[in-house]
Amino acid sequence: MQCGCGQCWEWTEVEEIDDTTCLGIGACPICLARFGVEGGAKEIDPLLEKIIWTDEAGHILERLPPYVAPLVREEVEGYAQGKGARLITFAILTESKNRGTVFWSPEAERRLERVPAAVQSMARIELERTAIDRGMSEVTVALMEEVKARYFGMGAAQA
Ligand SMILES: [Zn+2]
Repeated sequence: MQCGCGQCWEWTEVEEIDDTTCLGIGACPICLARFGVEGGAKEIDPLLEKIIWTDEAGHILERLPPYVAPLVREEVEGYAQGKGARLITFAILTESKNRGTVFWSPEAERRLERVPAAVQSMARIELERTAIDRGMSEVTVALMEEVKARYFGMGAAQA
């Protein structure tokens, strides 16, 4: 998109106002004029020159542990590119995460429920990623023990 001065506008952020509406905000790098565009993700997406994460999707990424975030970013952006999308919304993030379906053995699921809530979602993501990386279709107790010992420094003996 072009500014009145002929320069291309630069997007600074895109917010998801609700499930169907996004607000894109940016400015002209030359004359510093600011702009805002409101519309659905599908309307804003074609206006972007590069990949932009919405604030909502970006916050999820920021809360991931530093060793997981770059992997998730790469995976989600790869998934978005496959769809021809440049705007990474919360919906795309969720879609991408559900793409590689990993099952949990009942025993592994029960164990995850005992993990403190603060680290539970991060443990789930890490375990599913590890399973996918190894071509496993199921998270097992053995895998949990291994990942726990490796990343969380906890003893693997409390079976
Ligand atoms: Zn301008």
